[in-house]
Amino acid sequence: MSQPDPPYKRILLKVSGEVLMGDAPFGIDPATLDAVAEDIASVVAAGFELCLVVGAGNIFRGVALAGKGMERVSADYMGMLATVMNALAIQSALERRGVDTRVQSAIPMEAVCEPYIRRRALRHLEKGRVVIFAAGLGAPYFTTDTPAALRAAEMGCDALFKGTSVDGVYTADPKTEPGATRYGHVSYQDVLSKNLRVMDTSAVSLMRDNHIPIVVFSIRERGNLLKILSGAGVYTTISDLKGPV
Ligand code: UDP
Repeated sequence: MSQPDPPYKRILLKVSGEVLMGDAPFGIDPATLDAVAEDIASVVAAGFELCLVVGAGNIFRGVALAGKGMERVSADYMGMLATVMNALAIQSALERRGVDTRVQSAIPMEAVCEPYIRRRALRHLEKGRVVIFAAGLGAPYFTTDTPAALRAAEMGCDALFKGTSVDGVYTADPKTEPGATRYGHVSYQDVLSKNLRVMDTSAVSLMRDNHIPIVVFSIRERGNLLKILSGAGVYTTISDLKGPV
């Protein structure tokens, strides 16, 4: 598949926390963190404007602890705080590579990073800085998918890139259904009506309403992000076109 016309220039990349733990069961694997940072740095060097939203599944997911008796809202706040840790880890890995970054948190913590201020974030992007959005929406009962979609819209991004461990959206779960095939393209409506579970439905509908394509790709494959932005690579695009092709 080739780049859209006009090609993507500014994107938001959602990096799930799970990606950062590599093959470990928990936390941040330094080699994986460095590899992801290297991929991001190559995209910045190629002239793309990049926003990041990081999750925290490698450290803490509110819903998991709520299932074991913790109050859901407190558990979600802990999840949001964990995204700040991941954001600082990515910031540090990027800055070691000379990439200028700013972390903005939806929960203000002025000793650690900037608060989320939309106009300031836009200015950072214009100056070529990578803006890392942490602490989700600052509100419980969400995952980081919805803040990723919201920030993509607020920042005027051309696409929302969802980096996962699979290389796109499949007709069924490829781990359990050997006959499942990957879509090159699928409409927002099909993702929602067929319950394809790529992202939270609130994130998919926000992108549909704002006509922002979602690109689902494997972030575990090194160099893939730049390849896709250059018109190659393997991925699925979710957008307005009717029906899967
Ligand atoms: N979270 C939240 N509100 C938000 C974003 C995140 O409450 O706007 C909490 C929630 O508990 C979530 C956790 O932070 O499970 C970590 O985010 P997520 O599960 O999206 O991490 P990922 O799956 O991307 O690693």
